[in-house]
Amino acid sequence: MLIKPQLLVAGGGIAGLAAALAASLAHWDVRVFERSEQFAEFGAGIQLGPNAVRCLRHWGLLPALQALAVQPQQLQVRSAESGQVLGQMALGQQMQERYGAPYLTIHRADLHRVLLQALQQREGVHIKTGEPVLQVANHSSPLNNHAAIAVRTPMRDSIEGDALLIADGVWSQLRYTVQAANAPLWFTGHLAYRALLPMEAVPPCWRAANVQVWLGPRWHVVHYPVSAGRLLNIVVLVQGQAPVDLASWDHAGNAHVLAEALAGCCPALQALVDAVTAHGMQWRLWPLMGRKPVSGSQEMAQGLMALAGDAAHPMLPYLAQGAGMAIEDAAMLGHALQQYEAPIATRLQHYALLRWQRNAQVQQRAWRNGQIFHAQGLLRWGRDWGMRLLGQRLMDMPWLYQGPPGLHLDAHPLP
Ligand SMILES: Cc1cc2nc3c(=O)[nH]c(=O)nc-3n(C[C@H](O)[C@H](O)[C@H](O)COP(=O)(O)OP(=O)(O)OC[C@H]3O[C@@H](n4cnc5c(N)ncnc54)[C@H](O)[C@@H]3O)c2cc1C
Repeated sequence: MLIKPQLLVAGGGIAGLAAALAASLAHWDVRVFERSEQFAEFGAGIQLGPNAVRCLRHWGLLPALQALAVQPQQLQVRSAESGQVLGQMALGQQMQERYGAPYLTIHRADLHRVLLQALQQREGVHIKTGEPVLQVANHSSPLNNHAAIAVRTPMRDSIEGDALLIADGVWSQLRYTVQAANAPLWFTGHLAYRALLPMEAVPPCWRAANVQVWLGPRWHVVHYPVSAGRLLNIVVLVQGQAPVDLASWDHAGNAHVLAEALAGCCPALQALVDAVTAHGMQWRLWPLMGRKPVSGSQEMAQGLMALAGDAAHPMLPYLAQGAGMAIEDAAMLGHALQQYEAPIATRLQHYALLRWQRNAQVQQRAWRNGQIFHAQGLLRWGRDWGMRLLGQRLMDMPWLYQGPPGLHLDAHPLP
């Protein structure tokens, strides 16, 4: 019997699970270690561009996703003060025709569940919750010339594999095992207040399947439906002070502080924001952390270790692509792992070479988008004028939605 190589995965978020699935489809055995005791209904809404959906479809997940997601018809950008539409872009069928895959909005927990269920159906995949990876060590056996990597968890001293994927999220500690991946983590000065509102509590004019973006000075609001249209995901992004306890990712948001930040917004937006507390829902506060953009392939792989997702390239959510890049990472990793003729370290190098520039570009563009979204004064005037004049031409991003160069995915799912 042919013994399959084994991938160890540290972290069972979107990056870890997507990579585990891609590796399993590339005929690897996989062991995922997740720190949390159980996978909670964690996170809120995320937008998935056609670049990410194409990967998910390649893995055969599109029908399951479509049952839980929403396919928005329009992206509308408005002035938060006047409520006027500054520009819009067709999503829906037009996006699908332009890029060969749909644009979807989904609850992170739904996407996570779809990935998890797909993995649970595959042989050779083991997922351990409540078992964090504490340490990593290289194991080489001169006797049979076999290189391997091992991890230590609180339950086991050494679990050996042929490669390790580090996907432990934005607060990653394990990334420091990769020598070049030592860029420090910092608070970006941006905060995200997130809430989910049952659709029946949403003012009727905002129930349509659209992505709405409201631009204010040094803040903006994004909302769109998720969970097959049952919930509206609302995110308010403001610049401000970090909460005292930075080490925790998710804080109970303070509705009063939020109301102060949004002073001067138009009544329609105010009514929507007020509906959250009026219906007994809570704002959760996420301090947005960052690292400098990836500067070379050595930051994404070394020897038998590779990095993926937020552990490798945390980014501001202003291009709505953090999970998208994690999914692209996974697809590229699967592609690299199946180059059976090459040594495993070479395959991981290949993965890193194909991913680092794309991730760096998205990190940089997300940061720049934040400056444009939050512009004040003359820059703001120019932005609004450009949006009115150019609309879709300004908002569409073929370089992003066409997917990364070097990743060729069939339009049909894998068997
Ligand atoms: C406000 C906001 C809006 C966003 N909107 C979008 C969007 O519209 N579109 C989009 O694509 N992205 C969006 N994102 C980004 C997206 O949510 C993230 O990029 C993505 O979820 C990262 O996934 P990950 O698997 O890399 O990290 P995580 O989801 O953080 O997963 C890491 C996992 O590793 C586990 N872990 C940690 N340490 C260890 C250890 N030592 N051993 C084992 N397990 C460990 C953690 O428990 C966790 O489960 C948004 C983010 C924010 C904050």
